[in-house]
Amino acid sequence: PADIASMIERRNGLLGPGYQLFYADPIEVTAARGVYLYGRDGTEYLDAYNNVAQIGHCHPRVVEAVSRQLATLNTNTRYLQKPLLDLAEHLLAHFPAPLDRVTLTCTGSEANDLATRIARHHTGAGGIIVTANAYHGVTSSVAAYSPSLGPGAPLGPHVRTIAAPDPAAYPDEVALIAAVRDDVRRAADDLTRAGYGVSACLLDTVFSSDGVFTHPPGVLRALADEVRSYGAVLIADEVQAGFGRTGDDWWGFARHGFVPDIVTMGKPMGNGYPVAAVVLRAEIGRAFETAVRYFNTFGGSTTAAVAAQAVVTVIEEEDLVARARQVGASLGDALRDLADGTDLIGAVRGVGMFYGVELSAGGSSGDNARIAREVVNRMRRAGVLISASGPQGNVLKIRPPLTFDQTHVDRLAETLAAALRSVDR
Ligand code: PMP
Repeated sequence: PADIASMIERRNGLLGPGYQLFYADPIEVTAARGVYLYGRDGTEYLDAYNNVAQIGHCHPRVVEAVSRQLATLNTNTRYLQKPLLDLAEHLLAHFPAPLDRVTLTCTGSEANDLATRIARHHTGAGGIIVTANAYHGVTSSVAAYSPSLGPGAPLGPHVRTIAAPDPAAYPDEVALIAAVRDDVRRAADDLTRAGYGVSACLLDTVFSSDGVFTHPPGVLRALADEVRSYGAVLIADEVQAGFGRTGDDWWGFARHGFVPDIVTMGKPMGNGYPVAAVVLRAEIGRAFETAVRYFNTFGGSTTAAVAAQAVVTVIEEEDLVARARQVGASLGDALRDLADGTDLIGAVRGVGMFYGVELSAGGSSGDNARIAREVVNRMRRAGVLISASGPQGNVLKIRPPLTFDQTHVDRLAETLAAALRSVDR
């Protein structure tokens, strides 16, 4: 429609075209509730991608807590305020020992920036290891270790990448683990030779922008062991995998049977209200605390604290981790059934409410990316929202709210099936 076109033109003029929108045919969203986003004309869209709305859009618990707090007090974190302490206690109760400290920030980028600063002070080293197509955020320090941003945002000289291995490419887990350990050694030895040393390996616990690779339990534990053998710390980025999404625990690292030294989280934490965090062992933060004054005006502000407190409470009370496991299992089955019926799907990967569907029948990878974009846009026109990701742009990414039910899974699968049938090859 003409008025949508003029809104896009206005947006480009005001914000610049770099500020990209979802979908070739963008939606003007004006409201949301539960698993649905609504367009201005009342059109309903099933949201199966936007992992901010982890407990469902506009959850009444969050709305009520935030509204009440905003009308009472919302200010600078340098005053003594109980909501921040209550949140810290409640959040830490969901972490295994020895993770016993938390610092609140406003965004996932800030959390990763802080986590890697802490790691550098703790280890006295400067080098950082990430996966080959990782995304960890927007600040200049974090962009320097976010290879998915491409050549326009080059990696820092202190950064080395390791592969995000496809488990299906290895004969067994032993071979996969051996390859992962070799790769970490190569990157770490290179950083040591270059004089940086290794401060940290920062990893998504589900390799998301690398193509949604979920590894057999235990693989990341082996990786963490190898990283620690260099005196470096393992930082788990739980911005996407955290808060129950993997369906077996609150955090993606739990499947792998290890405890990271530092954990970062964000996006779903306030269910839309900006709040993020770094959780760590107090001992690891000591050198940083001694050397640097860290202060974040809005990180864990009164309102942010009650928003996150509401999210944590709802995940517990609505048993959303178990729900992610149950409904997620059915989502996985539905996607694998689809894969059996089409030559367009090369692989279905994922766990809980986090799936990647790799398209691979289009010939060159360029074709697959075009087909993926077209599938995403066809689904959007049919009222179901997903996205495409991965180094080649050919992996459909599905990350619904944890409140999805079987009817939503059915609608998603039917709409995806129709899009795959009708897409131009
Ligand atoms: N880490 C991961 C894995 C992310 O997906 C993102 C956001 N897409 C970030 C960090 C950065 O979070 P934010 O956009 O809140 O700064």
